[in-house]
Amino acid sequence: MTTTAEIISIGDELLYGQTLDTNAHWISHKLDEYNIKVFQRTTIGDDADQILNAFATAAERVDIVLITGGLGPTKDDLTKSLLAEYFGVGMVRHEEVLRDITLLFAKASREVTALNAQQADLPANCQKITNPVGTAPGMWFYENNTVFVAMPGVPYEMKSIMTQGILPKLHEMFSKGVLHHHIIKTIGITESSLSDLIEDWEVNLPNHIKLAYLPTKGQVKLRMTGSGDNLNTLKQEIDALKMAIMPKIAKYVYGFGTDSLEGVIGQLLNNNNLTLATAESCTGGYLAHMITSVPGSSRYFKGSVIAYSNEVKITQLGVSTEDLKQQGAVSEEVAKAMAEGVRKELNADIAIATTGIAGPDGGTAEKPVGTVWIAYSDKHKTLAKKFNFSRDRTFIVHWSALAALNMIRLNVGVK
Ligand code: AMP
Ligand code: MG
Repeated sequence: MTTTAEIISIGDELLYGQTLDTNAHWISHKLDEYNIKVFQRTTIGDDADQILNAFATAAERVDIVLITGGLGPTKDDLTKSLLAEYFGVGMVRHEEVLRDITLLFAKASREVTALNAQQADLPANCQKITNPVGTAPGMWFYENNTVFVAMPGVPYEMKSIMTQGILPKLHEMFSKGVLHHHIIKTIGITESSLSDLIEDWEVNLPNHIKLAYLPTKGQVKLRMTGSGDNLNTLKQEIDALKMAIMPKIAKYVYGFGTDSLEGVIGQLLNNNNLTLATAESCTGGYLAHMITSVPGSSRYFKGSVIAYSNEVKITQLGVSTEDLKQQGAVSEEVAKAMAEGVRKELNADIAIATTGIAGPDGGTAEKPVGTVWIAYSDKHKTLAKKFNFSRDRTFIVHWSALAALNMIRLNVGVK
């Protein structure tokens, strides 16, 4: 039987929209790794009746209730006293918790007030879970076949308590079988085309291995999730299925798992001993930013000319006034000239250039917003490709940068 969980996020700030509920997101992700199914997430304010009601309804429907928020020392934080009320128990002072708080405060030359000392009082039926990075400990309850866990709302405290104190206990108590995810990352193909391409393979997947299409900006991730008894067997099985489909999709696959396109490009350039330069009009330096977000990029990245104006295109990259006048800044000729220009100017082995209309203004019937030319140049060839990206400015810039990186991959990496 599946182990189920509910996450209860408590705090008025979550309902006001002042704080994003990142805790629930993170906890869901972690529980998924442990093959625990998150059945429901509940978000409520600092209201006693609502909180008590949430405890009771959650306990009826799931095996594990994970609560964050409402553990501070102030009056608005109610979780701890309500848990005691819910279970019908009193508070017990934990001297070692008080000692920890006193030590922590002494380091900051702070007095422990009565309010602070109350953080050492925990409901009598709970097991204390150490908080390695803060004053409010986590709490573990097991009553009527349901586990209750309460943790502070501060995300790094919650993560620390979960990782060190809670997840190992949950694993010990509920682990039944294993789950394994494998992600294949693609670019340059839509979700529906990809689905058509791999249809025969997909319909023959065994029942215990599920496939999910996860489209994100300009990319589609394919996630295979397998469940079974033995992790190694499962990994081998998923690996074999991956190898079977790879020849068909290799052109679109840039990486796996946590690979990033910019990281993969970096490795490719490093392995081939190639240096790179960029000339950016519509991406305005965003492409260079992506490239330099990779540690060690100085080994292969020479630099970028952000040629936003025609003047800079002419004076820094040697684009001809004639081409700019006749073809326009967003054209095959100008994109190619920019790539060739920056390759020579910065003395790089390969260069990439972007020029496009990011909008919201500046589009025409012939060149609507989202029209982007991207050029690639190396010592053997210069080529350019036209893209039509829809949506808003941020999206067009991001998508252009991804397409530019992919063009490097296709010309340097995929034979
Ligand atoms: P609390 O335990 O209620 O005192 O929460 C302390 C702080 O943690 C709040 O002021 C929020 O900034 C943050 N916080 C609380 N709940 C969440 C949540 N679900 N996700 C992200 N941050 C949170
Ligand atoms: Mg709060």
